Amino acid sequence: MSINDAPRANRPHIAIFGRRNAGKSSLINAITGQDIALVSEEAGTTTDPVYKSMEILPLGPCVLIDTAGIDDAGSLGQLRVKKTRTVLDKTDLAILVIDPLLGISRFEKDLLAAFARQDIPVLAVLNKIDQDDTPKALLEQELELSLHPASTVTGEGIAELRELIAQSVPSGFENVSIVGDILLPGDVCILVTPIDSAAPKGRLILPQVQTIRDILDHNAQALVVRETELESALAALTKPPRLVITDSQAFAAVSSLVDESIPLTSFSLLFARYKADLKSMMQGIKVLEDLKPGDRVLIAEACTHHRQEDDIGKVKIPRLLQKQAGGALALDWCSGGSFPEDLGNYKLIIHCGACMLNRKQMLSRIRTAGEKGVALINYGVFLAYMAGILKRTTSVFASGPDF
Ligand code: SF4
Repeated sequence: MSINDAPRANRPHIAIFGRRNAGKSSLINAITGQDIALVSEEAGTTTDPVYKSMEILPLGPCVLIDTAGIDDAGSLGQLRVKKTRTVLDKTDLAILVIDPLLGISRFEKDLLAAFARQDIPVLAVLNKIDQDDTPKALLEQELELSLHPASTVTGEGIAELRELIAQSVPSGFENVSIVGDILLPGDVCILVTPIDSAAPKGRLILPQVQTIRDILDHNAQALVVRETELESALAALTKPPRLVITDSQAFAAVSSLVDESIPLTSFSLLFARYKADLKSMMQGIKVLEDLKPGDRVLIAEACTHHRQEDDIGKVKIPRLLQKQAGGALALDWCSGGSFPEDLGNYKLIIHCGACMLNRKQMLSRIRTAGEKGVALINYGVFLAYMAGILKRTTSVFASGPDF
């Protein structure tokens, strides 16, 4: 990622689906005006989904995902199809490419049903109109969806398709805010970022950087300090800050230094609303309270960072969880893009702030867990509860849509 790029997780994810050789990769190249996907005459050339951060005008920055043919055959094909299906979890807009030479089959209909199940808006494109003159209306009737005609050979319909994509991406991308909705212009916000052995060398971590940017975008002021400088920073202000945001691991120290009258929260709690669903996580606390020795708990992190000796996911959270349960638990871990398909054995999932996932993907994880009756809470909610300050650190959101 270049230093000027918007983080991938913040861009709308637009995935291209269709049968093998329907022209998905060529369509991506035509939309972007670049040669980014692997195109071949041979069916099934695209194997793993290909992700590419792009700028499509008039939409702006987005991630395009080129998927394998959903009708792939054989065991390798099955793996490709499985990977293609995991793309659904992070898709904000699906483009379904129809090849008039292949017609409409159960594959297209299955995909449409999968989009509907996951509430994914879809744009259906009738590709290769230079090669076939099947009446569009006939195919639309069969598909029960209107089709946008296009040809990557003649370029017909491509400019209009770019416009349609911009119009069809669900609104909310421009409006989603980490903290801006609770700040007024000119407000001062103190951010507490411990620089300990777990902190990466020479930089802040993504949730911290994104929160600072959001504060600046809303014409408020960000004062960033380590916990050791918090007391003097508070004393130096002529009036109390509007909000103090801390790393969840410093809850105990920070909550003792910040007067009860000053709203306090954490980066992870902000990300519980920004990336996920704070309300459902608050409900998950009941499950945490009922945890018993022997229960199975999954600890999920959305990246594979270098683990420290006293790592939050490997050491600190397990220690606190077993203290809460009153005995040993059956713990599992997952990290990066992997997330178990079978969640049925778990009682609870404790998830990181998910700064590397897009919101759609995190909501898919919550929904999948919910379907199995498994509660999911994030590190911030868990650590605030364990520190006895969950009410205090979420009260700043109490009048908003999160409660
Ligand atoms: S993805 Fe999760 S574990 Fe990785 S930096 Fe972001 S919040 Fe932390």
